[in-house]
Amino acid sequence: MPLCVSCRGEYQVPTRAGQETAEQPFLCTRCGQNNQRWHEWETARFGTHFGRFFFRGIPWGLLALGSFLLPVVALAAADAITPVASVRIGIPLAILLNFVNIALLYALKDSLWRYDVLSQVKRGGFRPPLYAWAVTFFVLALVFGLALVFMIEARAGDTEARPTEGLVRVLTTVMLALTFVNVTLSAMFMAAHDYGRWLDREMPQPIYAQESRLLRVIEDGVRDRIGQATGRAEQGVAVTIVDIERTRDGGVDLVVSAEIDADGNGSLKKLQYWKITADRWGRLRKMSPEGPPQYIEVPAQDTAGAQRSGESGDGGHIVVTDEETEKSEPLWERTFKTSSETTVAIDSSSRYWME
Ligand SMILES: [Zn+2]
Repeated sequence: MPLCVSCRGEYQVPTRAGQETAEQPFLCTRCGQNNQRWHEWETARFGTHFGRFFFRGIPWGLLALGSFLLPVVALAAADAITPVASVRIGIPLAILLNFVNIALLYALKDSLWRYDVLSQVKRGGFRPPLYAWAVTFFVLALVFGLALVFMIEARAGDTEARPTEGLVRVLTTVMLALTFVNVTLSAMFMAAHDYGRWLDREMPQPIYAQESRLLRVIEDGVRDRIGQATGRAEQGVAVTIVDIERTRDGGVDLVVSAEIDADGNGSLKKLQYWKITADRWGRLRKMSPEGPPQYIEVPAQDTAGAQRSGESGDGGHIVVTDEETEKSEPLWERTFKTSSETTVAIDSSSRYWME
């Protein structure tokens, strides 16, 4: 099964060209994302991908390909460089490393896009965006290149100077290779950045960049998990998010309240708070109960009222009698006091809990 561009869930594809019999083809079963555009792109030919990455938009990719053979330029100054660093080793080394980094970064282009999106939503920690890596590698290329030029300059007027030896020669040779490799790396990271901006415009972003959708997937996961664990999946589990905090890796720490029908006939509700850690794809990593469960009686009269008002679809409201509350007042506008001194305000779509 192909994976959803947004949440890494699965989606179905029509089994044959033009056959749309798969239930809702391209629609992710987990987050509801339509993956048709992504699927067309993913299954496009190699040449289409290669062309998009290297030859379209700002020509960083073209620069990266061009810089692949840039080390050959050093051969023109081989006589001047040889006393300081080994051109014979440095140049082939640079070409080999350039080949590896172009092939590797190109293969990882989609992962680099996700990394770049993550660097925008993550809080704290060290995760510089792609353009920052590009600048860093370019500065390193300048530093290594200038260091070599200064060493060559220093020897220019000295006829007695002998070629470098041992560890110093190894280091200067590596510096010679890295001068060129860093230029290519810098261009590749800029090309990946440009490709990522194109994906941002054309494709759905990963779910960790869409907070409301991420929370909905987590909520669904929690509802399923509690429903399966308690055997109340069919009656429904009402989940309300109480508190959220994004984690350093782009996931979410959250506290939710989950309410289930405790006795099977709607007259007793069990309310439990849960502390949950989910990763950036909305997968539940840890889920532990927070405090003891609260049992809330639902008087038969109010249960009937809830049913009459059509609000019992998610398992009914939490209702606790309050003598001062006028019975004629609509149910969804009432505020109740529970036995645990928690004020419960009810409206037609959600509940708010206030100490
Ligand atoms: Zn999805």
